[in-house]
Amino acid sequence: MKVLVIGSGAREHAIADALLRGGSVEEVTVAPGNPGMELEDGIRTLQLAPSNQAALIDFVRNNGYDWVFVGPEVPLIDGIVDAFAEAGIKAFGPRKAAAQIEGSKDFAKQLMERYGIPTAAYRTFDELAPAVEYVHGHGAPIVIKADGLAAGKGVTVAMDEETAVAALNDIFVDHRFGSAGAKVVIEDFLEGQEFSLMSFVNGTDFWPMPISQDHKRAYDDDQGPNTGGMGAYSPVPQIGQDVVDEAISTIVKPTVEAMAQDGTPFTGILYAGLIATADGPKVIEFNARFGDPETEVVLPKLTSDLGAAIDAILNGETPEFTWDEDNATLGVVLASDGYPNDVVKGARIPELHVDDDSHVYYAGVARDGDGLVANSGRVLLVESSAPTLAEAQRKVYAILDAADTTGMFYRHDIGAKALKG
Ligand code: AMP
Repeated sequence: MKVLVIGSGAREHAIADALLRGGSVEEVTVAPGNPGMELEDGIRTLQLAPSNQAALIDFVRNNGYDWVFVGPEVPLIDGIVDAFAEAGIKAFGPRKAAAQIEGSKDFAKQLMERYGIPTAAYRTFDELAPAVEYVHGHGAPIVIKADGLAAGKGVTVAMDEETAVAALNDIFVDHRFGSAGAKVVIEDFLEGQEFSLMSFVNGTDFWPMPISQDHKRAYDDDQGPNTGGMGAYSPVPQIGQDVVDEAISTIVKPTVEAMAQDGTPFTGILYAGLIATADGPKVIEFNARFGDPETEVVLPKLTSDLGAAIDAILNGETPEFTWDEDNATLGVVLASDGYPNDVVKGARIPELHVDDDSHVYYAGVARDGDGLVANSGRVLLVESSAPTLAEAQRKVYAILDAADTTGMFYRHDIGAKALKG
């Protein structure tokens, strides 16, 4: 089969890699992709933006592609799967109506409330004054979330009322998130370990993947600003199988059923960002696609054929998934200095010496002469697989520590929460 993957990050590199590894997909084109992934046999890139739906449709039609895999949230929320469907092209991902589960936090919270899916108690506001009044009545800690897409920056976990009110002013007065901040969800603060549970979904049934844990803060010991994610690992030994089973039965299953019941069935990857509270697992957020960087540590564990499984789902057949349960995976992001606030581009990408059980998944890189240079915040991710998490961690850091990473930085404690104690 020939497959077009939409997107350009390390996540799409890992998806392309997993598709090719499976065997039934011979050729993957990534639009727009990046010059790092082009270094791999079988991966090509196509300079078309995900927003250029008409040109993408023409390309798929004219070049005999079997189907399309949509990586990022923005084109999904813009309705790219609907556009492909209208053109008679199969695309894996939710329709626009179902992608609202990520596109609007208020939509997701209302769905969870109506169907009794465990999440933090919340209120939605579209004006400053009542929101501020609510914060003062409720007290801190409290969490302020812009309703729409804000590239991971729309959430403020406020430990005091002043911070919460400042966040509300940012959104309603300074319009920091534009129309994404027309509404604000204010929710109770939850405490516990976070984990990510992603599932393949075909509209009515779902197939969960191994869980993983992301590291959102920029610096070691969870210090510094929130980012798109600085590293991840899988499994997450401090989250018991009983908690995962409970999350599947009280969260994933009822959510898939609720979406179908409401007439917006979800097909694609449903990402549940969860927190294991004393009261059981609860939803922090839903995403309508693979997580980044979680995908880069979860897909390397897939031992079955990804392309064949997605092809089965797209044809209304039952897919098969098998996972490597014997090895742990860990991935660390290399980012440009200044990320996420004032990114300094242009650092030279060093040669990274990886073995057969490791990968370099490229993200924000550009070609410069014979080499590559950093051209955005997250540059690449190094992933290793080993029989234990400690060993996977050692391998990744051996690769990164041996390289000249001038002009870039990475966290040194990815996986620490799983390894301590
Ligand atoms: P989100 O963009 O929704 O994933 O939120 C970013 C981060 O804010 C999450 O990964 C959590 O660490 C934190 N967060 C979000 N909602 C809550 C909550 N209700 N209680 C505590 N922390 C939260």
